[in-house]
Amino acid sequence: MTELYQMTIHELHDLLKQRKASSREITQSVYQRIEAVEGMVHAYITLTRDTAMKQAAAADEKIKRGEIEPLTGIPLAIKDILCTTGIKTTCGSKILENFVPPYDATVIQKLKAQCAVFVGKTNMDEFAMGSSTETSSFGPTGNPWDLERVPGGSSGGSAAAVAADECIASLGTDTGGSIRQPAACCGVVGIKPTYGRVSRFGLVAFASSLDQIGPFTKDVTDAALVMNGISGYDPQDSTSVNREVPDYTGCLIADVKGLTLGIPREYLATDGVDPEVEKAVRDALRVLEKQGATLKEISLPHTEYAVAVYYLIAPAEASSNLARYDGVKYGYRTPGDASLREMYETTRSEGFGAEVKRRIMLGTYALSAGYYDAYYKKASQVRTLICGDFEQAFTSCDLIVTPTAPTPPFRLGEKLNNPLQMYLSDIFTIPANLAGLPGISIPCGFSSQGLPIGLHIAGNLFAEETILRCAYCFENHTEWHLKKPPLT
Ligand code: GLN
Repeated sequence: MTELYQMTIHELHDLLKQRKASSREITQSVYQRIEAVEGMVHAYITLTRDTAMKQAAAADEKIKRGEIEPLTGIPLAIKDILCTTGIKTTCGSKILENFVPPYDATVIQKLKAQCAVFVGKTNMDEFAMGSSTETSSFGPTGNPWDLERVPGGSSGGSAAAVAADECIASLGTDTGGSIRQPAACCGVVGIKPTYGRVSRFGLVAFASSLDQIGPFTKDVTDAALVMNGISGYDPQDSTSVNREVPDYTGCLIADVKGLTLGIPREYLATDGVDPEVEKAVRDALRVLEKQGATLKEISLPHTEYAVAVYYLIAPAEASSNLARYDGVKYGYRTPGDASLREMYETTRSEGFGAEVKRRIMLGTYALSAGYYDAYYKKASQVRTLICGDFEQAFTSCDLIVTPTAPTPPFRLGEKLNNPLQMYLSDIFTIPANLAGLPGISIPCGFSSQGLPIGLHIAGNLFAEETILRCAYCFENHTEWHLKKPPLT
């Protein structure tokens, strides 16, 4: 028998609507699942069972009044970087371990308006810096497909929670790949929307010109439903775009006829792409071709610089954004009565972990007088060239298809002491962030060791509908998304 916690948003919505299940029953079922597997997976930093049960009761009342909306009564998990009134928001960091925000992020307000249920806050790399969820101050998350392996990162908790059925869907954030790469590692669907599509108000900033919030779901239909719920203009985020939000479920037609899929020459030639990943992606392209898509080789000549550019721009922005954690305004302060300067220094050296310190130092250096022109400014110029590559590419194709990550999920600890290796996990996802483009990762196969492989589909600015259509078509002609991890 299928348990409630195993179902998708749209399946549960139908049950709720027909009064065959209540939100309380669904939420109970999710917590039963959490009790059974969370000890192994560790997807969450904070669980909020009492408030969730109250929210479920309120959702049931709303449903009784005939006011059901697509996310009403659905248990969701939230990356612990999104501010939630009265609920700890740690960013996976000791420096914020007791921070309780007095307000909700806009996306949380939007979900609350529909009476969604919030199960808890998920584990993540500290301040979203990482690709494995191992830099969290609260210990790593296990990949539900193999607990000895990483779930990807930085939104590894949100991805693992969906894969392990510890929630129905979740929110993550993506600065260089942190939704799409963990989605690939955990065999679920993850979308990074166009920069400006979803409000960042209440998202604790890592690199403001790159950060976007997006969903993790069990299938593409659910991804469209969550996108409907969180997208839209917000006057509180000056980078949010005032542009109508389509109904993203409207484009879910299992057909790609007439679409041209660009295959970047440079990406397939990338060293370090696992042969099983390459094969799964080539097989996926054949499925789409069979459904009527045209495949076309394209060129993105500057993408070889994308990772280098990202590791100047993201740390530069982070060094500025993280200056606010000084022991005075937020979070942790070192005990004792040191001088102000000593208090700042000790608070920050005790409060931040090694990866965050590395980024702050890199970013401060790249922005400092004498180096700014050589590093930050040069990186910004190359970023413009990368945007130009995409503009050019989209004159001859509708979507760009690549692997999401170069390898299947690696072992816990394998790359922790080799930051450069870790940084290369995002080689295929970073270019979309630099150019502000939307991208999705969907399951497209498994390695011989039974580990998930993700297919990345990127589109032009605000082309989420085309991306969803292609992803939906692929999902309809394959069964990868139906596989469940062997967790007992
Ligand atoms: N892995 C990349 C980094 O460490 C991307 C992280 C993200 O998207 N938040 O910066």
